[in-house]
Amino acid sequence: MDRTPADRQRYNDAMSRVTELDDTGWQDSLWAATATDAPATPALEEQTECDVVVVGAGYTGLSAALHLAEAGKSVLVLDSFGPGWGCSGRNGGQVNPAWKVLPDVLEKRMGQESAARAMRMAGDACDLVFDLVERFAIDCEAIRPGYVQGGYGQHGKDFIAQWVLQWQRRGVEVSMLDHDEISTMLGTSVYSFGMYDARGGSVQPLSYVRGLARAALAAGARVHGLSPVIDARRTDGSWVALTASGASVRARHLLWCTNGYTDGVIPGLRESVVPVTSFIAASSPLSAAARSTVLPGGHAVSETARIQVYYRLDGRGRMVFGGRGDALNTRLNGSTTHLERQALAMFPELEGVRWEYRWGGHPAMTTDSLPRLMRIGDNAFSALGYNGRGVAMGTMMGRELSHAVLSGETALPVTGLRKTPLHGLRQLGIAWHIFSGRLLDALDGRKA
Ligand SMILES: Cc1cc2nc3c(=O)[nH]c(=O)nc-3n(C[C@H](O)[C@H](O)[C@H](O)COP(=O)(O)OP(=O)(O)OC[C@H]3O[C@@H](n4cnc5c(N)ncnc54)[C@H](O)[C@@H]3O)c2cc1C
Repeated sequence: MDRTPADRQRYNDAMSRVTELDDTGWQDSLWAATATDAPATPALEEQTECDVVVVGAGYTGLSAALHLAEAGKSVLVLDSFGPGWGCSGRNGGQVNPAWKVLPDVLEKRMGQESAARAMRMAGDACDLVFDLVERFAIDCEAIRPGYVQGGYGQHGKDFIAQWVLQWQRRGVEVSMLDHDEISTMLGTSVYSFGMYDARGGSVQPLSYVRGLARAALAAGARVHGLSPVIDARRTDGSWVALTASGASVRARHLLWCTNGYTDGVIPGLRESVVPVTSFIAASSPLSAAARSTVLPGGHAVSETARIQVYYRLDGRGRMVFGGRGDALNTRLNGSTTHLERQALAMFPELEGVRWEYRWGGHPAMTTDSLPRLMRIGDNAFSALGYNGRGVAMGTMMGRELSHAVLSGETALPVTGLRKTPLHGLRQLGIAWHIFSGRLLDALDGRKA
């Protein structure tokens, strides 16, 4: 395709806008250093057509593409960079079950029948990940020893007791852990109690998303990186998505899967979620002695704390320790020192380890802690807002999007576009949330 100077300028402008977002060191991540090779996903260079155009090549977009291609639809995926450039290639790799809302609360909000359907879907999300890994032989260090949540204080205890009771009533294998049990399980005595959920596990997140991309390609989908979409509009009953280089695709359906990296192309969509910043530090591989006491069961762990940390060991026994930045810090600037200090306070065996990798990214939060499945126009949908639990939920919501296209029957009700109230004040809100959350966590007796 011939490019005019105006095309080139538009492309450069769009790319510099998106690279500005990459302020958190993706290239330096442990995952970038250890992932399986990326499949070839060259830029779109033509005017073309398909049934469904998907914007965003993370878990959500690629799972949607894979399920649609398997159902016989012609699908084309466009990403500003390529598979896994967003959170899907940067996260902690924890395959966490469900979401953070109690089942009874969901029932009150949605009614018994809708809530039961939605909870079944959320509860099945981990199975979907591990099934896809097995079905497509995705090489991504997948393990499934279960997920553990550590707790402090009365606030956390009440939540976990209710969580366990309410999921057990619905037949799910979750159990409460007392101080001794969780201390033995994790090799740290900082928690007063905890919860074990057998559904969880972990993956090498970038290898997993690249595996999804490969599976989607093998099923017949086309996947194009270096193709930022700068305009999407309805023309003669179809959607036309235009990329920065001037290439375009005309499709009956449009799916927008950009989560915390959502820009202003679809009016109002950026305001539907609040992107925050999460950072991870990864150590050198632990010694055999340390590995026998630090997370000996290989669990993926997070906490009930308001401003929680999350951690696990990777396939080579490195501690992968993540959490929020300082209140106003949205850029990396070496700012994982607070996480490294906290890891050491919890696991003294880490004394002397080198922290070899530091990076971060922008997951998307919602005010009610539930993901969004929204109609953003005729034959157009978006799924986003996984509140830091997108490995399993993003994969599942991608499948939900495929159902929205194929049958209109989704487990989570499709809503209209929902904007976050006071979105313009979000930086202030985030800073206050982190500051007050850390204070309340300390009052709850958080030790590290
Ligand atoms: C540090 C960190 C740790 C985390 N840890 C965990 C964890 O352990 N477990 C867990 O379940 N979740 C975790 N999460 C959250 C999880 O990673 C996300 O919820 C999930 O990856 C979202 O997937 P997605 O496909 O919806 O979006 P993303 O993977 O973010 O993909 C969005 C894509 O959209 C593309 N895009 C945006 N705009 C455009 C445009 N205009 N044109 C073309 N492409 C565009 C971007 O390039 C990007 O590739 C973590 C997140 C971070 C940052």
